[in-house]
Amino acid sequence: MTKPQTMEFKTELEQLLDIIVHSLYSEREIFLRELISNASDAIDKLRFEAISEPSLASDDTDWKIELRVDKEARTLSIIDNGIGMSASTIVDQLGTIARSGTKEFVEALRSSDASERPELIGQFGVGFYSSFMVSDDVTVLSRQAGHESGVKWHSQGKGEFTVEEIDRDARGTEVILHLREDADEFLEDFRIHSIVRKYSDFIEHPVQMEASRTEGEGDDAKTITELETLNSRKALWLRPTDEVSDSDHEEFYRQISHDFNPPARNIHFVAEGTLEYRALLYLPSQKPMDFMWTEPKAGLQLYIQRVFIMDRCEDLMPLYLRFVKGVVDSSDLPLNVSREMLQKNRVVSQIRKGLVNKVLRELEEMKKDERESYEEFFTAFGSTLKEGVTQDHENRDRVAKLLLFRSTKCNEGESIDLEGYLARMPEDQDQIWYISGEREDLIARSPALEALREKGEEVLLLTDPVDEFLVSALGEFEGKQMKAADRGEPQESDEDEDTAADAGEFEGLFTFLKTSVEGLKDVRISKRLRSSAAVLVAGEHSVSAQLERIMKQMGRGDELPPRERVLELNTDHAAIQALQKLHAADPADPRVEDIAHLLYDQAVIAEGSAVEDPAAMAARMNRLIEGASD
Ligand code: ADP
Ligand code: MG
Repeated sequence: MTKPQTMEFKTELEQLLDIIVHSLYSEREIFLRELISNASDAIDKLRFEAISEPSLASDDTDWKIELRVDKEARTLSIIDNGIGMSASTIVDQLGTIARSGTKEFVEALRSSDASERPELIGQFGVGFYSSFMVSDDVTVLSRQAGHESGVKWHSQGKGEFTVEEIDRDARGTEVILHLREDADEFLEDFRIHSIVRKYSDFIEHPVQMEASRTEGEGDDAKTITELETLNSRKALWLRPTDEVSDSDHEEFYRQISHDFNPPARNIHFVAEGTLEYRALLYLPSQKPMDFMWTEPKAGLQLYIQRVFIMDRCEDLMPLYLRFVKGVVDSSDLPLNVSREMLQKNRVVSQIRKGLVNKVLRELEEMKKDERESYEEFFTAFGSTLKEGVTQDHENRDRVAKLLLFRSTKCNEGESIDLEGYLARMPEDQDQIWYISGEREDLIARSPALEALREKGEEVLLLTDPVDEFLVSALGEFEGKQMKAADRGEPQESDEDEDTAADAGEFEGLFTFLKTSVEGLKDVRISKRLRSSAAVLVAGEHSVSAQLERIMKQMGRGDELPPRERVLELNTDHAAIQALQKLHAADPADPRVEDIAHLLYDQAVIAEGSAVEDPAAMAARMNRLIEGASD
């Protein structure tokens, strides 16, 4: 037997513990949920391992989680006969936070309201350490399945812990919490019962506690002590659909997702026929805290014949529906499936197809019948859903129909879908117009939209960075091409024909502009403009300003070919006519060059980009202002 070894917690963990101990007072009862969930996970893990190696569990398969209270010693113990931990795994598992995002967690905790903190603990999976909310001294005794000796871990939550090898007969783990003075309540039976029912009712394994009752009377009275099971253990997905209440769903959803907001919708169904499975899926109502910065991964819990197989089975749901949470229980898969097998398995891909179909149908219904909640849902997960247009060829059109957009014809708070767009467009319009940029108010007022607005044609306003990829992946919708309003030359229409006629008189000015302003591919008369003097558009096959910005932000600006900029001028505009006169009178007049650059700069600003050389622009303006008093 070795001496106890003292070790230090990793820095972030120490900070975390400090926060847990000093500021997490509300709803601290969740520590029990966390420890029971760990115990249940440990049993599931062993049950799973034992499928391929039965000897690991053969000494004890009476799976259970026991709670034991010792009022005199002021301890509460949580005991399981699961997989257990060895000396080395316990150091890894309980001395560091294995997951990424620990720092983010600590930051989020610091800046959060006290009331949000218990949720954060659940979401970030730092469950075990929540013991220190109620306990000033935690001992963990454990023996890993298949190992001879056990291990004792001990800590007072103050920066260090000790680990020591011990003899231990029982397989599994025992967590012994010495309760803090202000945590008496957790020694009371009724309190423990109610916490277990509240948070751990659906845990599949029995959570048990000793109960005593008296039998007989007087001298014959006997006290009988037995283990009582506190949780109902009813796996919700196995119950008939109409017997599950909303609050059951909320509680179950919370358990599997760690999301404290009620789900927006639940999808509960039994597939029968060639393929038999049960599924209980949830659409969240809000974006979970970690949705943006953890690795994008789909994942449903997979059960096979009611045996838990894995927590995040990625093969059951495509990536673009990764917000869906839930459970799938199949009767057609072998219990000993490996991850690799799942990837290629036909049954899995058929189940997946069925699930996707159900989820899309649910979204379609929600969009039709509950527009407001759908809009809320779309605000949270629309960007993710859009990925489906590229990822899911089979359902591309269904996904496209689910998308909501803002447009030049939407009032504040309104949105439109592509079918709605087609339904209300003028008869002679044959393209779906869009314009993309960072700020909706800016692109909505882009000079490039003036002519379209006059013709009553609607323009989608795209501000989500993924929209750039979406429109190019989509290409067209129901035969109508998606077309950027600020790219290429708009198609000729009858009323524009006369403009070509007067191009001649501006030719000299245009050539001058093209040579004096750097980076212009072309200068031409605009068919887009009505009230503005100038607009910058992209060449027909050029990347857009927005895509260029996005790629630069990702540090991948070099991967793009240079953007082709075309300056379009409104030759009916008094400013352009004045410039043309100045240029015709004397091409060498310094004002011509200043004004030419200013026209270009205003077009750059209108596009939402930054002027490359603001100082030069200011100098030009000032020269013109000085000249104004001559
Ligand atoms: P999480 O459960 O999200 O992984 P926790 O902080 O709750 O995070 O637990 C950390 C790790 O400690 C677990 O992943 C597991 O490996 C180990 N662990 C905790 N409790 C037990 C237990 N009762 N039996 C076996 N391992 C456990
Ligand atoms: Mg846990």
